[in-house]
Amino acid sequence: MSEYFDAGSFTPRYHGIFDTHAHYNDQRFDDDRATLLPALPSLGVSNAIVVGYDIPSSEKAVEIAGTEPFLYAAAGFHPENLEEYGEEGLEKLREILKNDKIVAIGEIGLDYHWKEFGPDIQQRAFRRQLELAAELNLPVIIHAREATEDTLRILADFKGLPGVLHCFSGSAETAKIITGWGFYVGFTGVLTFKNGRKPAEACAEVPIDRLLMETDCPYMAPEPWRGKRSCSPMIQSVAEKMAEIKGVTPQEMIDIAAENAKRLFRV
Ligand SMILES: [Zn+2]
Repeated sequence: MSEYFDAGSFTPRYHGIFDTHAHYNDQRFDDDRATLLPALPSLGVSNAIVVGYDIPSSEKAVEIAGTEPFLYAAAGFHPENLEEYGEEGLEKLREILKNDKIVAIGEIGLDYHWKEFGPDIQQRAFRRQLELAAELNLPVIIHAREATEDTLRILADFKGLPGVLHCFSGSAETAKIITGWGFYVGFTGVLTFKNGRKPAEACAEVPIDRLLMETDCPYMAPEPWRGKRSCSPMIQSVAEKMAEIKGVTPQEMIDIAAENAKRLFRV
């Protein structure tokens, strides 16, 4: 039980948080999802996007988003979850994307940290889903890990496609390039870590109207919850750090990031 977020001892300092990347479809939320999600508005969170990573998790994201008016969903094949990727898988994805709760295709991208699927199939799946997003006029949520060069090379062909590089771990230079192409950049609890100098430098480089906040829950819990299962209210720590970097108040930063999210995801 200790990993559960204790809403009773949590005091929200701000309001209007938009968590642009949450995996409430993860089994680590199975036991308390039904009580945690309805409580989010009283904990300072106005909106959250439940993000899929394969067909079952995308279906579950849509189902969960359907339980609350302030929740949305994204569907797609994550580069580590390409087992079902193929013509049939893409057809299933198209079906899921028809749902009213869908606001984006994601998460999609490249991950060379885990070697389960090689660069070739990862790149094919990434490109194909970017094309699908362009065809369906949907924004994209991009995951890129240890694959900066190839990610940039592929995205260079999709300049102008609305999207976010989520859980950004790249350099300030990369942040400058992609925001120049119109992409948004999302930061998680990593921004609050003691060794978070690199993301802080990247955050400083991102124009304030291109910044998004996210948990990537159940992962990446910010300080002072580092190592625990994360959830959307914890974003207040990320907001404080981001506000410090940008020279605004945390509430102003939350409001700006929420406006950015609404513009990108058209909600
Ligand atoms: Zn994620």
